[in-house]
Amino acid sequence: MQALVLEQHEGKTQAAVKALDSAALPAGNVTVDVSWSGINYKDALAITGKGKIIRQFPMVPGIDFAGTIHHSEDPRFHVGQSVLLTGWGVGESHWGGLAQQARVNGDWLVPMPEGLDARKAMIIGTAGLTAMLCVMALEDGGLTPASGEVLVTGASGGVGSTAVTLLSALGYRVAAVSGRESTHSLLKQLGATTLLSRDEFTQETRPLEKQQWAGAIDTVGDKVLASVLARINYSGVVAACGLAGGFALPTTVMPFILRNVRLQGVDSVSVTTARRIEAWKRLVKTLPASFYQQVTREVPLTGAIEAAQKLLRNENTGRTLVKIA
Ligand code: NDP
Repeated sequence: MQALVLEQHEGKTQAAVKALDSAALPAGNVTVDVSWSGINYKDALAITGKGKIIRQFPMVPGIDFAGTIHHSEDPRFHVGQSVLLTGWGVGESHWGGLAQQARVNGDWLVPMPEGLDARKAMIIGTAGLTAMLCVMALEDGGLTPASGEVLVTGASGGVGSTAVTLLSALGYRVAAVSGRESTHSLLKQLGATTLLSRDEFTQETRPLEKQQWAGAIDTVGDKVLASVLARINYSGVVAACGLAGGFALPTTVMPFILRNVRLQGVDSVSVTTARRIEAWKRLVKTLPASFYQQVTREVPLTGAIEAAQKLLRNENTGRTLVKIA
């Protein structure tokens, strides 16, 4: 089988597509023939070695994949069944989806939701699942479309573009923050009603600024998240899932203790299976058919390394799919 393999030489990560024997696959009770995977931010960090994502080498990256069951010792899955996987440390500490086969623990698999196929599932991918989990976090915090406009940062990325689309489809007014003017027409097509420059969020922020948004989905962190928190309405909710701009959070307690603002962290790696299944159902129901054309570009397995480099240079928008079979 062909796989993207990461090795480390003299402290540097080297990535190359290689032929591997399936016998080398890690332990697991289900083997999947992978047809589609994708390049998420974490994959890009792993493949380029720019983030300490991988601790054991050699590693096959790919934190998500979709395909069909090749062999199963788990009674819940049968040969030929269509499945998807996101998270659980796959592509980080267990060989992942950027390969023709993956052997995993059946507990990590999700049966393909009705209404999706492998390609569509990976257009959504970890990024889209995370966007839905963020929307659900806002709803858990009491937000409704009547609460007011919702802000999305890193709006043109995988998580951001799906978040804009979902919020708009659910009837929210959406303000999209992007560092690139070239993304504005895509963001408008996805449903953003207000477009804002990232520069507005990287200036020095006072602990409290003018209240502007009922809620926010933040994929960026650092100064941008601090600036968002200072501008959220009284009793607003912020779902924070990313660190594309950095992992620091230079803020104060003021938004929380004077404006009743709620900051909800969102993790997609270890979220319960029940919540994943609920999120996938809602993604299928909510995303318009046009979404699957608007946010996607495809590369072969041999194009994954370049796609990862481009993602970290912030040259991609939406989702990059990797066609495996
Ligand atoms: P993408 O690269 O597709 O999107 C990130 C976006 O952030 C870019 O498109 C860009 O948007 C913006 N951005 C990029 N660099 C910077 C920067 N230096 N400062 C500020 N903004 C920047 O990544 P994903 O959408 O896949 O992931 C986004 C974040 O969410 C990542 O940090 C990722 O690790 C995290 N994540 C977390 C998950 C979880 O379970 N918590 C799951 C999935 C992702 P624009 O050009 O429009 O400004």
